[in-house]
Order: sequence, then structure tokens, then C-alpha cells
Amino acid sequence: MQTLSIIVPCYNEEAVIETCYQRLKSTLDSLDLKSQIIFINDGSTDKTYAILAEIADHDPHVTVINFSRNFGHQVAVTAGIHHCRSDLAVIIDADLQDPPELIPELIQCREKEQANVVYCVRKSRLGESKFKLWSAKVFYRELNRLSEVKFPLDTGDFRLIDARIIQEFNRFKERGKYIRGLISWVGFKQIPFYYEREARYAGETKYPLKKMFSFASKALVYFSRKPLQIAVSLGFTSVFVGVLMALWYIFGKIFGYTNAESGWTSIMITIIFFGGVQLLTIGVLGQYIGILFDEVKERPEYIIENIVNNPDEMQAK
Ligand code: UDP
Ligand code: MG
Repeated sequence: MQTLSIIVPCYNEEAVIETCYQRLKSTLDSLDLKSQIIFINDGSTDKTYAILAEIADHDPHVTVINFSRNFGHQVAVTAGIHHCRSDLAVIIDADLQDPPELIPELIQCREKEQANVVYCVRKSRLGESKFKLWSAKVFYRELNRLSEVKFPLDTGDFRLIDARIIQEFNRFKERGKYIRGLISWVGFKQIPFYYEREARYAGETKYPLKKMFSFASKALVYFSRKPLQIAVSLGFTSVFVGVLMALWYIFGKIFGYTNAESGWTSIMITIIFFGGVQLLTIGVLGQYIGILFDEVKERPEYIIENIVNNPDEMQAK
């Protein structure tokens, strides 16, 4: 019989976690598969862990990976994939924005098309601010334009992956993982599945504006070297403008059509313009150096405090 793992990252989700478990469980019970749910408690400061531990106490098919602190959504999903030993895995958010009831359809879709990945594409997204919708749209289109790998649009991490993808994913050594990008990068047969994204069931988004920007810039820097090329083009453009200006003023001096004393405006413009270009370029370089700095340290990606119902240990018994 095929085995299925559901990977659920949780950060301060006390308001939804019980309902999430119930809905997942009733969906899984209806399937003819051996299944397991892996919850990752990403350093929640509320009762999330207590609730999860209680659930795992009653249900041996629930594993809880408890992080020593908050490491972030992508790291939590990564840990889930690392601990997954099954033929299939579904990555899903705890907040029920992605309906667990779709899981059987994802599995059917995969079987019918013989695909390795079924990624869920949002036809619509309820309960999101206009700004979030607009910024996400612009961001994914731009990222696609700039990136060396093409990503499916309007796709989150909600997807079904098979053992082949899990195996390849586990070979990635980079710390800053942008999971949806990496899974696209792996290749094989990946097919879309269209669905309506619901509003958050309860609780608040864990992606405020600041986190959204850092997520976006990380994705860009990890998947594209175009910003560096843009910096170089900017440099060339400003050198060109600089040479033109220099010629203009030198000839002006010789032929007397500029007045040196009244040159204040042009000097200020030049300083501000070139200063801006330089700072911007250094900033872009800085982003890449920052990532190099993080990567060369080779720190562990996450620290696990404890695992409840560790499937590896249970198998050994
Ligand atoms: N999450 C996490 N660690 C974090 C932030 C979020 O594990 O540092 C989880 C969160 O509990 C949820 C999922 O990642 O299950 C997506 O987060 P959220 O729903 O807040 O993001 P949004 O849907 O608003 O983009
Ligand atoms: Mg959400």
C-alpha cells in the first residue's frame, strides 16, 4: 500500500490547529492509503505545542517536530520533508486556506497524469488585502522574468510531491530554501491543479509586510543573478552620461557657452545621481555577499528540541 505524509508548518496557530487536525484526519480516513501527519511547531509562543502534543498522544499517526525557536515557514517545511519517509507528501498550511479536502483529488490527478508533482494554482484568493494580491501578482511575474528557472504563477507551497522529488530535495545543501522555486528547479513531470484559496480560518497572518519583502528579496537573490547584471548596466549608463557631461563642459569652457560660476546645479545633479547609482549598486552587491556570508557558515538549518512519535524510532521498535 502507498504511504502518504502531510507536512504542516505551524507558528502560533492555537486557534486553528485542532480544526486543522480534524479536517485532515477525516480526509485521510477516507483514503485507501497509509498516512501520517507531520506537524512542525516552529517555535510557537502560544499553546500550539501543547495542543499538538496532546493530539499526538492520542494518535500514533501524528508526528510533531518541535523546533527550539522560530526558524521560519520555509525552514519548517524543509524539516518536514527531511523527516518524510513515504511515497507521497502533501505540503499544506495550518490555517486551512488550502482546503485539506482537496488532497484525494491531488492524488487522483497525480495518478492519472503519472506526474511527480501536482502544484496547486490559486484561481482566486479570498480574505486577502488588495495590496497583498497586487504585490504577489507583480512579484511572481517579475521573478519569473528575472529568474533562470521558470516558476508557475499564483502558486504557493500547497502541493503534492512524490518520493523521487523528496529524494532530490534532500540533496539541496543551501540554507536559504525557497521551496516552491527549488521544487520547480528539480524538474520531472509537474502539473497544475486549480483551486479556490479560502480565507484564513482563524488567527492572523504570520507574513506581515516586512517578512513578505524579505521573502521576496530572498527568492530573487537566490534564483537570479540579473540584479547584478542590472547593476553593471546602470554603471555603464552612468559612465556614458558622465562622459557626455564632461565633453559638454570641456567644450563649453573652450568655446565659452557655459559659465563655470553658475555650474552649481549641474554639480549637485551629478553628485546626487552618481552617488545614488553607486549606493544602489553596492546595495545589490551587499545582498549577494550577505547570502554568501550566511551560506559559508554552514550552520545547521534548524534545531529540533524534541520529536513526538518519531516515525524513525517507531519503525526501529
Ligand atoms: N508559519 C511558520 N513559521 C513562520 C511563519 C508561518 O511555520 O515563521 C506557518 C503558519 O503557521 C502557516 C503557514 O506557515 O501554517 C503560512 O503562514 P500564513 O498563513 O501566516 O501566511 P499567509 O497565508 O498569510 O501568506
Ligand atoms: Mg495563510
